[in-house]
Amino acid sequence: MSKKYVYLFSEGNANMRELLGGKGANLAEMTNIGLPVPQGFTITTEACTQYYEDGRQINEEIQAEIMEYVAKLEGITGKKFGDIENPLLVSVRSGARASMPGMMDTILNLGLNEDVVDVLAKKSGNPRWAWDCYRRFIQMYSDVVMEVGKKYFEQLIDQMKEARGVTQDVELTAEDLKELAGQFKAEYKAKIGSDFPSDPVEQLMGAIKAVFRSWDNPRANVYRRDNDIPYSWGTAVNVQSMAFGNMGDDCGTGVAFTRNPATGEKKLFGEFLTNAQGEDVVAGIRTPMPISEMAEKFPEAFAQFENVCKTLEDHYRDMQDMEFTVEHGKLYMLQTRNGKRTPAAALKIACDLVDEGMIDEKRAVAMIEPRTLDTLLHPQFDGEVLKKTPVIGNALAASPGAACGKVVFSAEDAKAWAERGEKVVLVRLETSPEDIEGMKAAQGILTVRGGMTSHAAVVARGMGKCCVSGCGAIKMDEENKQFELAGKTFHEGDWLSIDGSTGKIYDGAIPTVDASIGGEFGRVMGWADQYRRLKVRTNADTPHDAAQARKFGAEGIGLCRTEHMFFNEDRIPAIRRMICSDTVEQREAALAVLEPMQQSDFEGIYEAMEGLPVTIRFLDPPLHEFVPTDEADIEQLAKDMGKTVSEIKAIIAGLHEFNPMMGHRGCRLDVTYPEIAVMQTRAIIKAALNVQARHPEWTMVPEIMIPLVGEAKELSYVKKIVVETADAIIKEAGSNMKYLVGTMIEIPRAALTADEVAKQADFFSFGTNDLTQMTFGFSRDDAGKFLDAYYDKKIYENDPFAKLDQTGVGKLVDMACKLGRSVNPDLHLGVCGEHGGDPSSVEFFHRTGLDYVSCSPFRVPIARLAAAQAAIKDAQ
Ligand code: PEP
Ligand code: MG
Repeated sequence: MSKKYVYLFSEGNANMRELLGGKGANLAEMTNIGLPVPQGFTITTEACTQYYEDGRQINEEIQAEIMEYVAKLEGITGKKFGDIENPLLVSVRSGARASMPGMMDTILNLGLNEDVVDVLAKKSGNPRWAWDCYRRFIQMYSDVVMEVGKKYFEQLIDQMKEARGVTQDVELTAEDLKELAGQFKAEYKAKIGSDFPSDPVEQLMGAIKAVFRSWDNPRANVYRRDNDIPYSWGTAVNVQSMAFGNMGDDCGTGVAFTRNPATGEKKLFGEFLTNAQGEDVVAGIRTPMPISEMAEKFPEAFAQFENVCKTLEDHYRDMQDMEFTVEHGKLYMLQTRNGKRTPAAALKIACDLVDEGMIDEKRAVAMIEPRTLDTLLHPQFDGEVLKKTPVIGNALAASPGAACGKVVFSAEDAKAWAERGEKVVLVRLETSPEDIEGMKAAQGILTVRGGMTSHAAVVARGMGKCCVSGCGAIKMDEENKQFELAGKTFHEGDWLSIDGSTGKIYDGAIPTVDASIGGEFGRVMGWADQYRRLKVRTNADTPHDAAQARKFGAEGIGLCRTEHMFFNEDRIPAIRRMICSDTVEQREAALAVLEPMQQSDFEGIYEAMEGLPVTIRFLDPPLHEFVPTDEADIEQLAKDMGKTVSEIKAIIAGLHEFNPMMGHRGCRLDVTYPEIAVMQTRAIIKAALNVQARHPEWTMVPEIMIPLVGEAKELSYVKKIVVETADAIIKEAGSNMKYLVGTMIEIPRAALTADEVAKQADFFSFGTNDLTQMTFGFSRDDAGKFLDAYYDKKIYENDPFAKLDQTGVGKLVDMACKLGRSVNPDLHLGVCGEHGGDPSSVEFFHRTGLDYVSCSPFRVPIARLAAAQAAIKDAQ
């Protein structure tokens, strides 16, 4: 049997979203439960996929099936396409599986032509309405199907209003609108070169094609990427007989939510316009009245509408967003869907629905979109001011939150300005670990280069600091402390606002407001914790971040990057001395200075985590990142070490690497300089012993993590140093404290040989940032430069550094888990790459059987919720 591509509303139901799209499935469901829905049919998402497979054509088989359903609809309505006596007019609207409001196209009043409209004008006794419908149709069809552009038609309307001395569209007469329709058609012919189509079948096929085509428009592509909607889904098309809200003052159209989508308050919320069609409400051409006023104007329709709202909420057990029309006092439902809402409203609605007995806690947990939670934790821009401020640039939304401050160009300036009470935004070509203090001091960070796992992005997320990265449109002139963007030159001290949740950049100052977290937030997270299997740890390098993460529910630290501590002002001279040492003795002397500092840092972190597990990773980055670049610092170092400036410069030059990310870093540092491993082991173990002594109620089991292992023998070499050093200290302290030694899996070879590696390891932690970088073979800092071209060409749909590539990198993760556990059944498995805070990746880690995910503090609540949703889905 050949595939069925078209369904009458009466043939579908709410469970057929995949095939009929959300709108189609809900129109079918509303039809089934007896609500007043103008009838129609849905052309499936599979027809959309077929359209693309056929080279953007609707093939004959599908066209024939559509025509069969046109005939059925004619039978149901008693109206006919192109019939002068009783014409069938329809709307043609998109409807994907997941709702994508405003992203795709709609056409109303299709089926009109000169003959039909003439008769309609006479028969209805309402010529104004008939001509209004026709001019709207020409306008929409020209814009959506033929891509002529709205503005030419709007200009014609404005000219007509001016000529007639009126200000409102509704003040134009039937004659005016008729004249406008004529002008529109002339405009169409001038732009397209042929007459405006008068055959309703030609109009219909053109409109359906245009909706399919709109699935691939740029705004839909961006929306899908931001919302994790696969390109392969396609959109359905709904062809629905028209109900008219613009036939007079006893008609109207509205959009309403069963609850307030901004606050969640349980009260009907919406807008209504008399004598209008739906687009007028959305387009903001006229100011609609609040829905409550509809009760006075249309008491009967309003009472009926209130009942429909109740029926729909009870039926869907969620807040509904509806479109409806009143035609001569009679209500018609055009759409319902689960309404989009702010994160705060989402939490309130979920809790209220539980309290009202409408849903259970599991469903409440499943209802919240995890990625939206972080907006509740960061400051936000004042919405009113934001609306009025133009966007001057767009880049990666690297770390959420809103920041507004004066532009500075260096970390030192950021620090100095902040110390004298100024709010600053740090604008850099890219950031390096040296900038960390400046990043801390700034309200937010804007970089010209770098992707989602670039240093700036990772560090900013860790701090919960707003960051917009990779704004290639900026022309940077760091030397003269200025940059150019959107045709304007910004100097040091100019105000700039950036939104790390959207990646948008604004000229000037937009005030921010602190986000408030209501009681519902905690309630939903409490429910989430009951259902999840995955533990959630955090990536934290300081006691402050660790404490922050604890507040958000972190159950341990999955990654403490020790290098971040080395950049503090009091440590950097010693680390530089260590790097520039000629002998082991010199190196040990420099490390001896660092050891107590590291130890006290670790004690602070252990204390903040109150006995929860803490994984500390050995020094990871290439050493050249630590060496001075500025002349004065080089001179200081030369003086400290009793060397000449040129000797120091020669050492620095010797550290140069062609591919530092694949160079002398990670465990390779410990293999060449075992004394680093000795020092770090001593600091970790001594800190744990001290904290254990202060807190006998906790059981301290420090976890030492060795990065960038690619060969089991590398791990066993470093591990031997760790064990010898640790055992001696523990013995000397007369303690029997346990500790774990594990490794990161971030080099494909480690994953491929995980059975060998696991014999040496108590745990694996997947470093999916490097694992992604090395598996794809492109740099985590530079991929942003070409990824856009890959999105445009549909080679990649997402940034693999933000959302785990489950097919490739995921296969390595899965393989390493299985190989590892085959030789070491107790192997503890986690992930500490940025993907640990990405909801779809968390679902993958749940399915793969990891024990925990670890992410930056501000993403801990997201990971907790995503882990719960993964477990709930799995159990279904
Ligand atoms: C990783 O590579 O995924 C990781 C967590 O380590 P880093 O980001 O510090 O390289
Ligand atoms: Mg790494």
